[in-house]
Amino acid sequence: MGCKQDGVRTLQGGCGASGGVEIQAIASSGIRVLVVEDEDLTRQAIALGLRHHGLVVVEAADGAACLTQLKRAAFDLVVLDLGLPDLDGIRLAAELRHRSRLGLIVVTRRAAVEARIEALDIGADDYLVKPVDYAELAARIRSVVRRRGPPPRRQLPLGPWTIDFDARTVTCGDLDAGLTRGEFDILARLADAEGRVVSRDDLLEVMSRNPGETDPRSVDMLVSRIRRKLAGAAPQGELVATAPGYGYRLNIAAPEI
Ligand code: CA
Repeated sequence: MGCKQDGVRTLQGGCGASGGVEIQAIASSGIRVLVVEDEDLTRQAIALGLRHHGLVVVEAADGAACLTQLKRAAFDLVVLDLGLPDLDGIRLAAELRHRSRLGLIVVTRRAAVEARIEALDIGADDYLVKPVDYAELAARIRSVVRRRGPPPRRQLPLGPWTIDFDARTVTCGDLDAGLTRGEFDILARLADAEGRVVSRDDLLEVMSRNPGETDPRSVDMLVSRIRRKLAGAAPQGELVATAPGYGYRLNIAAPEI
């Protein structure tokens, strides 16, 4: 995973810039950030600001949602607000540091030196006091991620199967489901939706990247093949559910946010 900054495009306003000021949005770096903040507007603004600086952002509105998201997908770094309604931010930060090699940047209104020292003492990689400048936060995130080196492989459990997005495999122990490129692309798109419905048009668009795969009926055909290949080790129910007249979704719990 690199920090490519090519593909710069320009957007108008928002994201920490004053109204009407041009800011530059950078093509995705692939860095995955979980923003944990209970104030909706603040969280959404930080998420938008970071996305405009090329980061992939998932939002969590409290400590429980943060832990749920971390179980569900791999992240490079957590941006953590210390003032959360359900879990004390300092304790959550200590828990995150204890559990994984995640990068951790604390963002808080607590400006007191004691709060800064406490955050750094429990292992935060960096500390910013609100209001934050999104360009500075994005730069600090990139810096922490660079220092920490490549992230762990991105994997997602799906019933008895494990989807490995880097190796592009779906395995159950030693058993490889043997998905074709087209089948894996469809499954990966459904996995990215985290249990939400994906329309057949969206899936067709994914398929159209593969030469010769533009027949709308082939979405259903590929889904049916995926089901067949994954059914052997999943007698408890279909892993790919149909949303009649619309599309498909993975049979996993949707995020709480
Ligand atoms: Ca807060």
